[in-house]
Amino acid sequence: MSYGRRIAWLSSTNQKEKRRIIKSKNIVLFDMDGTLTPPRMEFDRTLLEPLRELTQYAQIGIVTGSDFDYVNQQMGYVIKHSELVYCMHILPCNGTKWYPPLYSLGDSHCLKHEADMRLALGSDTYRKLMLILLEQQLHFAENNIPLTGQFIQYRGSMINWCPIGRSATSEDRKRFVQHDKEKNQRLHYLNKVRRRLSLQGLDKYITCTLGGDTSFDIYPTGWDKTYALRHFEDKGVWFVGDRCDKDGNDKQIYDALSTLGRSYKTDSIAKTKEIIETITAHFQSKENTNG
Ligand SMILES: [Mg+2]
Repeated sequence: MSYGRRIAWLSSTNQKEKRRIIKSKNIVLFDMDGTLTPPRMEFDRTLLEPLRELTQYAQIGIVTGSDFDYVNQQMGYVIKHSELVYCMHILPCNGTKWYPPLYSLGDSHCLKHEADMRLALGSDTYRKLMLILLEQQLHFAENNIPLTGQFIQYRGSMINWCPIGRSATSEDRKRFVQHDKEKNQRLHYLNKVRRRLSLQGLDKYITCTLGGDTSFDIYPTGWDKTYALRHFEDKGVWFVGDRCDKDGNDKQIYDALSTLGRSYKTDSIAKTKEIIETITAHFQSKENTNG
């Protein structure tokens, strides 16, 4: 559907049509960084039209390790100003936070679900974990990497550990990504943290993975992106992400849905666009078959 036709469709949209979309039996979940946006950058608007097409057949969701403030920064245009808000779920912190779609454009997003990591682990375990991370940050900082601020960020249901700090500029990030490519240091520290957790008997309860390009995500075991599936047990769920391989933060949800043939791996915005079109074509053909 062309943009012009879509505008016409929108202006003719009545409550009944909106409800039809909101009640769709399918939902397509997207990772954010590296899938809908270049890492830590704004949404790539070339995806807007394909997403509009997709929402004719399915709801959509953003499931990311980032918290709501980053989703707001990077996806602000989409989650506030486009009609996608009527069928878009926002699932920050791996879906341990859940903001359902809005009913009208002026509304604010309301938190429907939130999980608490400190409560789930208990204060002793949480403290031991934090001490391990602080210790490893000191070791990591001895390498020649940029150091800014906000190295360890508590997000309620997960911890994000970023050795260069979340305040890093894109230049800092680029430098670190190059450094990490050459020295594979994040993987080295990932294994170190896992060993430390194991030595204290905490590896069963706590999972540590690589997060995005510059950080680590640490959360209670099972609170990876598959957590988001708990909100959609009555739906057919699809997933698109870029970190679906070993140690990537999309791996668990990718694997969980791949047996159903509903997982897709992207490596660029152009590839994401192709995948959205493929999924839309699947729903279209199903609708045609069912008359
Ligand atoms: Mg990603």
